[in-house]
Amino acid sequence: MVLECKHVWEHISGYLDGSLDADVLEMVQKHLEHCEICSAILDSTRNILVLTADDLVFELPVNFSERLHARLEAEMNQTTERDGRVDG
Ligand SMILES: [Zn+2]
Repeated sequence: MVLECKHVWEHISGYLDGSLDADVLEMVQKHLEHCEICSAILDSTRNILVLTADDLVFELPVNFSERLHARLEAEMNQTTERDGRVDG
């Protein structure tokens, strides 16, 4: 089974907080190895989570995934405009 980018995005928050099933985690990791867009999104999302999480209990806002998806679309456009170049 091949994981598409949009599927990876759905799993990113779970990926970051370690709640993915082992096989899903493996698929996401494999995808991230060869997909610059998702790697960039993962980095951005991690930054958002750091800001969001603050020093409180790791807890996502109710509308987090809605906002995350909007953010992901913006990132996607940006990443495409940058011709896929990703730092690091
Ligand atoms: Zn991807």
